[in-house]
Amino acid sequence: MSLENVQYDAIMREYDRRQRRDRRMLEERRTHAYQQIPRLKEIQDAIAAASAQRVHSLLSGKAAEAAAAYEKRMEALSRERRLLLSQNGFPPDHLEMSFQCPECQDTGYVDGEKCACFRKLAADMLCQQYDPAQRAGKENFALFSFSWYSDKIIDENTGKTPLEHARSAVEIARGFISRFEDSAQNLFIYGDTGVGKTFLSRCIAHEISDKAHSVLYFPSYDLFDLLAKDTFSKGSGGGEVMGYVLDCDLLIIDDLGTELTNSFVSSQLFQIVNERILRERSTMISSNLALEAFPGLYSTRTFSRIIQYYRFINLIGEDIRTKQSAYDQNAR
Ligand SMILES: [Zn+2]
Repeated sequence: MSLENVQYDAIMREYDRRQRRDRRMLEERRTHAYQQIPRLKEIQDAIAAASAQRVHSLLSGKAAEAAAAYEKRMEALSRERRLLLSQNGFPPDHLEMSFQCPECQDTGYVDGEKCACFRKLAADMLCQQYDPAQRAGKENFALFSFSWYSDKIIDENTGKTPLEHARSAVEIARGFISRFEDSAQNLFIYGDTGVGKTFLSRCIAHEISDKAHSVLYFPSYDLFDLLAKDTFSKGSGGGEVMGYVLDCDLLIIDDLGTELTNSFVSSQLFQIVNERILRERSTMISSNLALEAFPGLYSTRTFSRIIQYYRFINLIGEDIRTKQSAYDQNAR
């Protein structure tokens, strides 16, 4: 299967929609401004008339003498327009086209290359297709509560309470988000089922995605399933999903260990972890595997990369999902 073939049309339709919206919004700004300041409409008409005259003089061979007059006229009209806009509290570019992505002017391409916003759109589409829960977009830091974590129990391995672990986890997560644009960082979140690993991963995913970065979020099972289909499918376009997986700004693999582990998964995981480190792209992995089990299930070299390049977050405690629903009900 090929992301390109299946979804390229959908992406280009989205750019078409954005361009139509850009033009419509410009029309609305113009109509509104002309109603408020009729002189702006006269200026616009005068600019159009001057341009037409300029073309006419070019055609009739009197370009040289007309050019200076034309420049002078246009400059005076533009100056008057800027002045009127600023006097009425509008920005100087109020009557010009504005774009969601100024880089590519909402075409998806810059100098024949795909724009960064194209990659984000493609990643978003891939994400929406394979993770409906992410599309629902529920988890964010505003919904996170430390009350889910006990300050009474002390973990015998770390000597800390679940609450202390959670506080430290959120602090690391916030640091990860605030430094995201400065440098590549990697997180490995581990702990038992239900301690909030997925919740925290999705909070981070939303924050980074909101900053217009390409974020791919996959439950581990879906990721390796998708990669297998992509790799073993007949026809052109095979391997394309891996391209996006290696290239997105942030990759999140949730619940590593829930997929069917085999040599294909093990080698793909090494490629993903290793290649993303080389490309300086941030990756987050969450897992409820005991760390000791890791080298046996995957490979020692994958684990050693993770030890060397990832920051570890350990969440502990009771299953927060029961507390979440109580918290949700109290909040209502
Ligand atoms: Zn763009």
